[in-house]
Amino acid sequence: MIQWIGCPSSNFRKGRPFGLRPEAIVIHIMDGSFAAGEGLFRNPSTQKSAHYGISRDGEIHQYVDENDTAFHAGIVVNPAWSLLKQRVNPNFYTIGIEHEGRPDDVWPLAQLTASATLIGQIAARWDIPRDDSHVIRHHQIRASKTCPGNWLEIGELIKQVPTTPALAVTPSVASQPAIEGGTLSPSAPAVAVMPAIPLDHAISIATVATQNLAKKKVVLTIRNVNLRRAQPLTTAQVVCVIPAHTEVQISKFEAGERVNGNSYWYVDVQGNYLWAGATNAPDPTVMAA
Ligand SMILES: [Zn+2]
Repeated sequence: MIQWIGCPSSNFRKGRPFGLRPEAIVIHIMDGSFAAGEGLFRNPSTQKSAHYGISRDGEIHQYVDENDTAFHAGIVVNPAWSLLKQRVNPNFYTIGIEHEGRPDDVWPLAQLTASATLIGQIAARWDIPRDDSHVIRHHQIRASKTCPGNWLEIGELIKQVPTTPALAVTPSVASQPAIEGGTLSPSAPAVAVMPAIPLDHAISIATVATQNLAKKKVVLTIRNVNLRRAQPLTTAQVVCVIPAHTEVQISKFEAGERVNGNSYWYVDVQGNYLWAGATNAPDPTVMAA
């Protein structure tokens, strides 16, 4: 299960330039806790991000849409990667996955399995070969960093990748149109940074026990849905398209534009809106009771 978190617009680039698309997956280690790593991506001044982060207990958070460019491997130092393109920022044609922990930590099985499963899904979406030329260590681009550390054997990680990703957790952005009139638009302009809404002001809507039993307010998308900037309106700017079967952390709900007879919209933790009708909780007032 992938939970959409997002990050400020200053920490990623909308779209991918020069007609480039994801051709490889770069494996990183956060060199710290999940919360600390995620904090860097959500801090608008760091200009750092990754598409995904995976905790030691296998929780997957998504910060950047795969169609957009995350800032995770833009510095090239003594590269040893055979498929590196000369004078092209590697961020433009890679997907970055961060992992909680220190460079020499042993990865728990839950983290290794979650990473391998995610790699399988990404590889299927973008037709990326499952080999050590296309699933690489950050160190192969930037030799001055040990990232992702010495414990991980890329070959062992690739061996864990399922050959057929589970359908239930495979987003289908390309094949399924987004609801309420929007479609995936790589050329959409970047959005302004929205302040996060403090969770202590949030209305309790739903609680879901995750693997570590922490309670979180999340909804699950049941189809692709537009995340709208700052307003519960189908005319508001599309921040990104959240794929089906994604957990979205929410702070509250509001009444907004009525779509297909439903006027409820959820507000994510960055103050953007998704229509409740595209989630497993189309009527927030029922779940709040
Ligand atoms: Zn790294």
